[in-house]
Amino acid sequence: MQRTLTIIKPDGVKKNIIGEVISRFERNGLRIAALKKIKLSKDGAKGFYIVHKERPFYESLTDFMSEGPIVVMVIEGENAIYRVREIMGATNPADAQIGTIRKDFADDIERNIVHGSDKPESAAFEIPYFFSQIEIL
Ligand code: GDP
Repeated sequence: MQRTLTIIKPDGVKKNIIGEVISRFERNGLRIAALKKIKLSKDGAKGFYIVHKERPFYESLTDFMSEGPIVVMVIEGENAIYRVREIMGATNPADAQIGTIRKDFADDIERNIVHGSDKPESAAFEIPYFFSQIEIL
């Protein structure tokens, strides 16, 4: 059993597809272990994406991630990190496979609807960034 941190980004919330995105995870046998709707400050977004601080898109990405509400979730299941990323599709929707969330809904490489931890070490940083132990069930 593995846990991963997943986010429906501000573009996904604006497009009113929270339920659609969650359904795709649930239909694939994954379980929502924790969930809440919040709004990140600019500093909150910068802290979350600290690994990207040297990237040219860091400012733009953290502006985007703090522009409106997001839904943060802990998703649980066997091999959850890999499976969530498969359901999400490639970072750039132009490269994403048909039937993935990003192919179906994302506007571009930045506004790409969802986030999912890329490896266990990332999940170990990202889950406690948003959730305390007693919120994960
Ligand atoms: P992910 O693991 O698929 O989310 O991709 P990354 O960890 O590489 O990047 C984190 C997030 O930064 C992505 O989901 C996008 O929102 C954004 N991003 C990635 N690459 C680019 C880029 O080349 N340009 C811009 N503007 N944003 C990007």
